[in-house]
This record gives sequence, C-alpha cells and structure tokens, in this order.
Amino acid sequence: MEEKKLVIDPNKCIMCGACTAIAPNNCAWVDGTDTPVVINDKVTEEATNAASSCPTGACHIEEK
Ligand code: SF4
Repeated sequence: MEEKKLVIDPNKCIMCGACTAIAPNNCAWVDGTDTPVVINDKVTEEATNAASSCPTGACHIEEK
C-alpha cells in the first residue's frame, strides 16, 4: 500500500507546463481540461521533481 500520491490542484495551476515536461508519465494535458491532470499518481522520482518544480504548489504530493 502506498501512502502518498501525486495530485494537481486545478485552482492553483497557472498552466506553465513544468510538471508535464518533467514528469510526462505522471502529468499530461488531456482534452477537455484547462490544466494538466495526473494520469499516474505514483510518487516516482520524476513525480517528486515535478512537484518541487511547480511554481504555485498546484502539483504536489499528499497523503492518500
Ligand atoms: S507545474 Fe504546476 S502550475 Fe505548472 S502546469 Fe504543472 S500543476 Fe500547473
């Protein structure tokens, strides 16, 4: 059981694209959404880097 997950808060996202560039296996632009969404919430090294690179904290890791 994993106790943490990657999430994106669309209300904080400024659509900079950093998370999708750093962690394309976790975060992606999907048709019908304004902001990137989490397509895989597994907390990989890439996901951790994406979360720490998000300028607004929208992309972050939280407890499941
Ligand atoms: S890095 Fe943060 S602000 Fe930038 S697109 Fe991803 S969630 Fe949005």
